[in-house]
Amino acid sequence: MVDQGRAQGPRRQDDEGRAGLGPACDAMTQEQPVTVIGGGLAGCSAALLAAERGTRVILYEQRPGIGGELHDTHLLGELVGSNDVGPERADRASGLLRLELRELECVTAECLEQARLGEARSLVDGGAFARLVTETVEQHEGIELRREQAPSLAVEGVVVVATGPTTWSPLARSIYQAAGEPFSFAFWGRSPVIHAERLGQGQGAWLPPYPGADPLLFVPLSDDEVDELAQRVSDAERAEPPGLSEAVLADMAEPVERVIHDEPSRFRRRVLRAPRASDAVAGDGAALRLRPDGTEHTYHIEDFVTALTPDAQRHALEAVGALSGATVVRPGMIARAPHLPAARTLLPTLQMKRTPRVLVAGLLAGVSGYWETLATGCVAGINAGRLAGGEKPVVPPPDTMTGALCRALTGQASEEPTPLAAGFGLLPGGAETTGLSKKERRARQVEIAVAAMKEFMAQVG
Ligand SMILES: Cc1cc2nc3c(=O)[nH]c(=O)nc-3n(C[C@H](O)[C@H](O)[C@H](O)COP(=O)(O)OP(=O)(O)OC[C@H]3O[C@@H](n4cnc5c(N)ncnc54)[C@H](O)[C@@H]3O)c2cc1C
Repeated sequence: MVDQGRAQGPRRQDDEGRAGLGPACDAMTQEQPVTVIGGGLAGCSAALLAAERGTRVILYEQRPGIGGELHDTHLLGELVGSNDVGPERADRASGLLRLELRELECVTAECLEQARLGEARSLVDGGAFARLVTETVEQHEGIELRREQAPSLAVEGVVVVATGPTTWSPLARSIYQAAGEPFSFAFWGRSPVIHAERLGQGQGAWLPPYPGADPLLFVPLSDDEVDELAQRVSDAERAEPPGLSEAVLADMAEPVERVIHDEPSRFRRRVLRAPRASDAVAGDGAALRLRPDGTEHTYHIEDFVTALTPDAQRHALEAVGALSGATVVRPGMIARAPHLPAARTLLPTLQMKRTPRVLVAGLLAGVSGYWETLATGCVAGINAGRLAGGEKPVVPPPDTMTGALCRALTGQASEEPTPLAAGFGLLPGGAETTGLSKKERRARQVEIAVAAMKEFMAQVG
């Protein structure tokens, strides 16, 4: 445990009377702990990396006392969306981030690797992952975990704020003051998770949705069931956040109710898509696709993002005979989540331009996706430790995916839409990759990125 007596210094008032928002970075010493606010993916990633590098860390997590809209447990590192973390392939942006996180010695990413499921390993046991992260944080001598809400950024020293989609006032007010810009907002969707003990006993077929993927449980629907399900969804009460009707979801997921309303035939083609090249699902192939969660008999319903009320979701799913007796253990939902307009408020080091002792990571910084969240957590964690030790903050090289992501997110002239996901298009082209096929170019970009990250870590120490 860290010395709590030194953890919280006296609050300062700046010229405008705001408590402690602006001590100069050069005044920070190794004696000061770093404060991390938010024990999600980004916050844990930052806290563990800073602590592994010898910095004392105080980590605030408001659950279980406060929260519950998006999170279900008291565990740190809880995945709020699906348990799909993408394939391990390096020719995917998330795969390259994964390789870079290994070089960055990201402990949280290591926990994610340990909790992977299946042979293709694109799924993760979310519960096992969160338990691993919680244990690792709780047992780390350099981290003091405080299960309480951090009400503001008015603590002494360097702060990493990683409060994700549940960034609420009073902290949100303090972040706004420190950033000097209002928040942007994005809508995020997720599908229901169900517990269905009787499934798998003759109902449905385990098949890979595409070659090489881990199998999903395809539960076939008769035409009557499809019609009844669509009718129940259309008639149901909704719990949409205000402003949703005109919005595109950040993760591009379309709510089923909108699909059914706009183009009913797409409900079959998209939501109830049968496995390719298989006659295991009869008729014209309408099927719900269920993705195992890691907990026995528990499944995410693929592509069934919905803003129906929890009761309406239960009622709609009862239209599917094979799901009789199933319970919805986590309803689908659509959330409106805040993030900072990164190009105007953040430096590529993830420091706030206006208040450089405050670093921002994860969804709040405007990135999209689990791996991007972990990567920004690592950059914030490294820089928090450096600032606390009086060193200059750093950014991974531009030819790493992590470095490219930080630059694209925060670039002055950035026209990248936020939330921003990693992509090979963010990496510089350069002479080394001209004339190569797409496959060869990606392979070369991966080689360059991993080598650049190794060199970066050798320099950063
Ligand atoms: C509904 C939804 C679904 C999503 N689905 C996916 C998906 O399927 N795949 C994907 O890759 N990405 C998804 N995302 C995007 C993103 O990857 C995740 O939201 C990710 O969990 C963000 O991590 P984070 O660390 O920024 O926030 P979180 O993991 O939410 O962590 C933030 C933590 O901060 C705590 N906190 C908040 N305020 C305070 C305070 N004042 N004091 C102390 N603690 C506080 C919260 O309790 C929480 O534990 C989704 C986002 C949403 C909103």
